[in-house]
Amino acid sequence: MNIFLIGSGGREHALAWKMVQSPRLAQLYATPGNPGIAKHAEIVAVDVADHDAVVAFCHRHAIDLVAVGPEAPLVAGLADDLAAAGIAAFGPGREAAKLEGSKGYAKDLCTEAGIPTARYRRFTDAAAAVAHVRAEGAPIVVKADGLAAGKGVTVAASVDEAAAAVEACFAGAHGAAGAAVVIEECLTGEEASFFALADGTHVVPLATAQDHKRVGDGDTGPNTGGMGAYSPAPAMTDALIERTMAEIIRPTVETMAKRGAPYRGVLYAGLMITAEGPKLIEYNVRFGDPEAQVLMMRLDSDIIDLMTATLGERLDAVTPMWSADAALTVVMAAKGYPGAYAKGAPIGGIDKAEALPGVVVFQAGTAVKDGVLVSAGGRVLNVTARAPTIGEAQARAYAAVGLIDWPDGFCRRDIGARAAGR
Ligand code: AMP
Repeated sequence: MNIFLIGSGGREHALAWKMVQSPRLAQLYATPGNPGIAKHAEIVAVDVADHDAVVAFCHRHAIDLVAVGPEAPLVAGLADDLAAAGIAAFGPGREAAKLEGSKGYAKDLCTEAGIPTARYRRFTDAAAAVAHVRAEGAPIVVKADGLAAGKGVTVAASVDEAAAAVEACFAGAHGAAGAAVVIEECLTGEEASFFALADGTHVVPLATAQDHKRVGDGDTGPNTGGMGAYSPAPAMTDALIERTMAEIIRPTVETMAKRGAPYRGVLYAGLMITAEGPKLIEYNVRFGDPEAQVLMMRLDSDIIDLMTATLGERLDAVTPMWSADAALTVVMAAKGYPGAYAKGAPIGGIDKAEALPGVVVFQAGTAVKDGVLVSAGGRVLNVTARAPTIGEAQARAYAAVGLIDWPDGFCRRDIGARAAGR
């Protein structure tokens, strides 16, 4: 098969790394790509926002499957436009992608399907939203309705903080994404990520993971796109996985089918494991980044088989196979991230790090300048290791981090500490 992979992060590097292990792959193309992805794919320049250009590229290169990594092209309806042109695309269509593209849409679906989630109300007006915040009291959670690159959520400890978040939203802090807000009850418990694959009708569980969103050790400091992750999530017992499938994932897929917007692709549920059981925090309509990096390290099945079974609506005949090993990834970021940071610093030592057993260094914000690998973003490398336990994977990943020569970078020192200590 000729496959066209869309995206440029560590997630897409991990997908490319996994795809080239499949005997079914003929040629892999990627856009915008990055130097890590370029080890496995031919990088091409195609404007992903121009769906006609993507279709034309696919026809010219006899593409059999388009794999969409990030959420924005899915929310923009790329999968629909490809399907209309007779091109198979892995990822949900525009309507089903609203599960991530509109938090209010996802919450209303929970109400309709009886899915456990935080109590909520939707607002399109600042005064009414602030009045609601004052009536409910703190802690309380304020969310921009639309895609806000992970920055649209405020878990407010006080009513004033929540009111300020509401005002900021309606003042345009998140652009069009903040034209509506969802205000919801603050849940307490342990967070975990759950991944499933749906083909419109059938659903299979994939795996579990946990990530570290705060920039500092001990989960302190500002939120980031993710500073590390590991899989499996020890908190997600078999019983909790079965409840999540029965109470959250299957009702979602059934309700989307009933709405005439069948869900096809990866369904990524952010969960809070509360005293009453798992509750849905939010849906994402694609693999997580950096969660994909640890999932691909553990996946024994052929990722292309899983994608084609999804598109062929044959998931009832598929059981994804996973290594019993754990995987853990440490994100190396540019000093200053998630604030201002410098770009263009040379990076060395990736080959040395990858010479360690079970280690792969996925690249995110990198570029090649005058033949030298340099940093080109906030999150730059995902140093990833597989081993029989999370503790061993952690030791391997940090040994590999020690071999990376990049004085301008930093990482958290405690990725996986809680899980490894269980
Ligand atoms: P993001 O991934 O940027 O959308 O941020 C979502 C994060 O905000 C989650 O990972 C939780 O830590 C937190 N969060 C969102 N909704 C709630 C809620 N209802 N109760 C408690 N924490 C929440």
